[in-house]
Amino acid sequence: MVRVRASLSRLPAYVPGRKPHGAIVLASNESPYGLLPGVAETLAEAVGGVSRYPDLRAVPLIEALAAHHRVEPERIAVGAGSSEVCAQLLHTVVSSGDEVVFGWRSFEAYPILTTVAGGTPVPVPLREHTLDLDAMVAAITSRTRAVFVCNPNNPTSTAVGAGALSDFADRVPEDVLIVVDEAYREYADPAAVPDGLALLGDRPNVVVLRTFSKAYGLAGLRVGYCVAPPGIAAHVRRTQVPFSVSALAQLAAVVALGEPAEVARRAALTVAERERVTGRLRALGHEVPDSQANFVWLPLGGDGENFALHCADGQVVVRPFPGEGVRVTIGLPEENDALLALAETWKG
Ligand code: PMP
Repeated sequence: MVRVRASLSRLPAYVPGRKPHGAIVLASNESPYGLLPGVAETLAEAVGGVSRYPDLRAVPLIEALAAHHRVEPERIAVGAGSSEVCAQLLHTVVSSGDEVVFGWRSFEAYPILTTVAGGTPVPVPLREHTLDLDAMVAAITSRTRAVFVCNPNNPTSTAVGAGALSDFADRVPEDVLIVVDEAYREYADPAAVPDGLALLGDRPNVVVLRTFSKAYGLAGLRVGYCVAPPGIAAHVRRTQVPFSVSALAQLAAVVALGEPAEVARRAALTVAERERVTGRLRALGHEVPDSQANFVWLPLGGDGENFALHCADGQVVVRPFPGEGVRVTIGLPEENDALLALAETWKG
């Protein structure tokens, strides 16, 4: 018998959003607006090149990101989605049995990737659907190597403010890596939610994680990155699966990065729709936390699965978290209307 790692049998499965044919899918926090200008043409031109390996070091992409963030290229490392960059970060700091702290519920990959890296997940309950930063500091022990701050938090959509975040960073020991995961940053109100890079980027134990999967509309191509102190970024590059970011993904990301006005315009449309959906759901009697992301959270507890089934019967797919609630991605206005019509006919 092959001896597999015992810890893997306890691994929770990553649950992807379902995509039945013909249904409106509001389950995976994708952009509903498709590709940014120029991306499709670039991909079409480059497709003939895929018989070759991509640029291992993703030099043009890293240079574009460095210019975009006004940091040295040494501080950037890329991966196949920010999920892979999470894994690379964990492989950089976690040895067997080390602890990784994160709020819970939060991005479901954190406990999975921690366990795969040989670490022990330490989930810290949210307070009022928001990261409890005090409790997260209190959960840090001498075995803690990393703490994830998902801001805004997936799936509850709430965010922590600048004062709370920098106070938190002050209290985390300097040998613990703080990963500020900003997958949804483009949808957050800049007056309420800090830019982790501007606020904490100069600290030696802070890494900011970003992705092209949401506002940049490239979820299917798999490209994300971190901005980190140069020594950490070097290790994140070492722990990457070689060639994991395809040439198409690298090229598309550079083109997408060159469209900041269009990214902002689309994000503003989503934010306006988010406020409309939130208002309507609240008028129907739902508790809906203030969202800073491209989705809203319905803390329906045990009724969540029933709500999701009702929506699925009406050809709208949302994402239930059994026993906790339902996450609804903000789509196109007519898609959101379909969701709202189903919410109206739901008898919870
Ligand atoms: N972080 C958060 C908080 C997310 O919600 C997601 C995607 N669901 C990711 C990271 C990873 O996204 P990707 O791997 O597509 O970059």
